[in-house]
Amino acid sequence: MAKPQLRFAPSPNGCLHLGHALSALVTWDAAKKLDGTAHLRIENIDLNRCKPEFTEAILDDLHWLDLDWPEPVLIQSERFELYADAANRLRDMDLLYPCFCSRTEIAEASVGTDPDGAPLYPGTCRHLSNAARIERLERGDPVQFRLDIEKALNRVGMLTFTVVGPTVLDRPQVRYARPERWGDVVLQRKDVPTSYHLSVVVDDAAQGITHVTRGRDLEAATDIHVLLQMLLGLQSPIYFFHRLLLGDDGEKLSKSKGSQSLRDLRAEGWTAEDVRRAVKF
Ligand code: GLU
Repeated sequence: MAKPQLRFAPSPNGCLHLGHALSALVTWDAAKKLDGTAHLRIENIDLNRCKPEFTEAILDDLHWLDLDWPEPVLIQSERFELYADAANRLRDMDLLYPCFCSRTEIAEASVGTDPDGAPLYPGTCRHLSNAARIERLERGDPVQFRLDIEKALNRVGMLTFTVVGPTVLDRPQVRYARPERWGDVVLQRKDVPTSYHLSVVVDDAAQGITHVTRGRDLEAATDIHVLLQMLLGLQSPIYFFHRLLLGDDGEKLSKSKGSQSLRDLRAEGWTAEDVRRAVKF
């Protein structure tokens, strides 16, 4: 049987914090337990927020934690054409449609919230006529492309995926995916011809990832990934959702809230052992 392949896939839009350290340590530990390989992937499709200096800092922090990975490291910003190809396959199945709505328009017309608490897309542009679409595209209006979730689900029927836990060695369990709770998700953003969901699915398959280790905050998003794998005919990995580290406010750590970075902790004299202890690993 092929060796298990795992990955840690940070976005270089800031420095790693303790939550990332936990995620990385979980991944390398799972790879060891499964006698597999842990890969590093840099998820930098957001060209405005991701910076090369953050990528450098990530590599340095991970080496400091005594982790290593096979080269070359997969860099998403070098792979836009592949993601666009995958989107085109969905387009050929008539599952993508152009959406010209602004954030404000969506918030105003929204019909509820998605599992992340963001406004659910009300479907406005799903109903545009072909002529209106062509006119707006030709006019150069900013456009994103959404998955018609109802049409997509009609194609695949009931969706299941495999989860392991509480440890990666536990017996796999089958779970139902409910991607409909995300509504018509964006698969090609206004700024780049892809999205987190599309790139992650294309790359997990391209790297032959057998086990995806990720935080519980990405558990619900996995439903979309399973749907995309089915539509694109890609193998679905086994999923392992790990606990999250919470800050004093009870919320998960995040770069945007300025959670202390591994860099800061190192500068304060922390050792890699201190990090392992702090994340109870
Ligand atoms: N790049 C994502 C993040 O930093 C995680 C990737 C994944 O596990 O899908 O949150």
